[in-house]
Amino acid sequence: MTEKYKDIATPTRTKEILTNHGFTFKKSLGQNFLIDTNILHNIVESADLDADKAVMEIGPGIGALTEQLCRAAGRVTAVEIDQRLLPILSDTLSPYSNVSVVHGDVLELDLHKVVREQFAGYDKFSVVANLPYYVTTPILMKLLEERLPIENIVVMIQKEVAERIAAKPGTKDYGSLSVAAQFYAEASVEMIVPASVFVPKPNVDSAVIKLAIRQKPAVDVLDEAMFFRVVKASFAQRRKTLLNNLQHNLFRKDQKEAVIQLLESIGIDPTRRGETLSLDEYAKLANEVVRTGLHLNS
Ligand code: SAM
Repeated sequence: MTEKYKDIATPTRTKEILTNHGFTFKKSLGQNFLIDTNILHNIVESADLDADKAVMEIGPGIGALTEQLCRAAGRVTAVEIDQRLLPILSDTLSPYSNVSVVHGDVLELDLHKVVREQFAGYDKFSVVANLPYYVTTPILMKLLEERLPIENIVVMIQKEVAERIAAKPGTKDYGSLSVAAQFYAEASVEMIVPASVFVPKPNVDSAVIKLAIRQKPAVDVLDEAMFFRVVKASFAQRRKTLLNNLQHNLFRKDQKEAVIQLLESIGIDPTRRGETLSLDEYAKLANEVVRTGLHLNS
């Protein structure tokens, strides 16, 4: 293996690259780079890539994960916000011809356009990344809500967020994020990762989560926007009952009796808490709200 092909994700090589380019970390951009090749191999393995597949990486940093993706997939596109990393990436990724770097903020970019331009000839693609933690949830929600042709998403995120995404009803971690992610995907926590494999070390624990995107949402809803409004309202105050939350955050205050009737008509006890309802029950509830046309508070 020549110098050029040495893995980036070792403490020595990473330090060398950073020093040679005079790079300093920007905490505000969530820059915690991976320096452990084994972890990278495990991430790539979870994504089930092969030479016929395309993959999008968000935040390549100096290219540690990117080079592993280049070896495992047919086509790689990496979206990086920090202009200072572009010359570094063109250096570290120079051995690979199946990669492009798109400069931009993933939250601002038109991802449908990026996908059309970058992945012509591929029906689907995967997203694999060590995400910047300050924007984990907005990035994941954008990927899920925009209905991009994604097969699966395998990302390193904060452990606490990973646990919330994969949580089941009736547990303390179950909330609107669990419902939203599980509506679109099957979620599993693939591994817990110690802070010692990053430079600089983040001050939270990390985990790799896999979201296998469903062909169609987990439950049938008449109106998706209403489904998410009902979920949001139901979790507004975790200690309150479903009735209380719905009455204060979704319906008009004078509709208490109608809300009780609606809940009872679909077999949901109004004194339950939002965190005990399954996706099926939320779908039933949202569909009944649409059917009855009960007045909403706005
Ligand atoms: N993939 C590299 C690794 O694992 O070593 C770096 C991961 S680091 C946690 C997050 C990366 O995302 C950084 O390179 C950062 O500059 C980039 N980033 C931060 N915010 C971004 C955004 N809104 N859009 C695209 N990239 C972003």
